[in-house]
Amino acid sequence: MNLTKAFKNFFEKRAKYPRFKSYYGKQSAQYPQNCKVVVEGLKVPQVGIIKASIHRLFDGQLKTVTISKTPTGKYYASLLFDTEQEVPELVITGKVIGIDLGIKDFAITNDNEKTSKYSNPRHIKKHELNLARKQAKLARKKKGSKSREKARRLVARVHERISNARIDFLHKLSRKIVNDNQVVVIENLNVKGMVRNRKLAKAISDVGWGMFTNFLDYKLKEKGGLLLEIDRFFPSSKTCSSCLYQMAQMPLEVREWTCPSCGTHHYRDENAAKNVRAEGIRQLSVLGTRTAASGGNVRPKSGRKSVLRQSPIESTSQGS
Ligand SMILES: [Zn+2]
Repeated sequence: MNLTKAFKNFFEKRAKYPRFKSYYGKQSAQYPQNCKVVVEGLKVPQVGIIKASIHRLFDGQLKTVTISKTPTGKYYASLLFDTEQEVPELVITGKVIGIDLGIKDFAITNDNEKTSKYSNPRHIKKHELNLARKQAKLARKKKGSKSREKARRLVARVHERISNARIDFLHKLSRKIVNDNQVVVIENLNVKGMVRNRKLAKAISDVGWGMFTNFLDYKLKEKGGLLLEIDRFFPSSKTCSSCLYQMAQMPLEVREWTCPSCGTHHYRDENAAKNVRAEGIRQLSVLGTRTAASGGNVRPKSGRKSVLRQSPIESTSQGS
């Protein structure tokens, strides 16, 4: 099924030609039917009962089960449930927040009352030395040897820790923002294009904006909120948020500036967050949704929709 989907995406020009997946990478298998959650763990066709610690379950029908193995040798099962839950109707009464994403500061937010800065934890930086040391060790091992496999796993473990720390940070920050606001406005960044810029690549792929956007999106949907992505060519940095005067250019190194038209002194990122928020509110009103500030109104969302949710299960036994 996945191969068919991959080729379909390729022929319809949505994706590149499917790549072979290395045995040493992430492994996974899907069971579209006949799986069952039992007391001891998970019952899978052909395999039988697999011991597992189940994190949480949802009421509803169990659909596809995906079992995957991480490069460090941990097994996970992702369970997809059809809960037949309705998507909450979108009634905007809560706060609207604008977010400017950056590298030095991960995010600068403005919700009209205050501007907050969330500095970027440099996950890779913290583990850089450790990683380099272990990678050097791996390089010296003979190909195909047992000790090479051991060294490979040690390197994979460092990568896993870095990624876990990053995911933890992104979950906590998105949770905080979603709890305090109903509409989140963010710039639709061309992350792929930016990663291609070599100088910025490492820093950008480390910060995980794409994942952050996904987390915001599903957390908002759950509570009847909205993630609004605005066009990435919107001039959020070079427009004055007080009088809308637009500067001809605004080089990256300019961190603060004074508007020549109204004389307001701006901090680059704060000004961008304010502009992103204002643009979001403007688009909401175009969509026919009004914010509480301008009267508060209802935009009914299209009918019933079932929500599919995933719940992770971690296997109790480790190693292959
Ligand atoms: Zn101005």
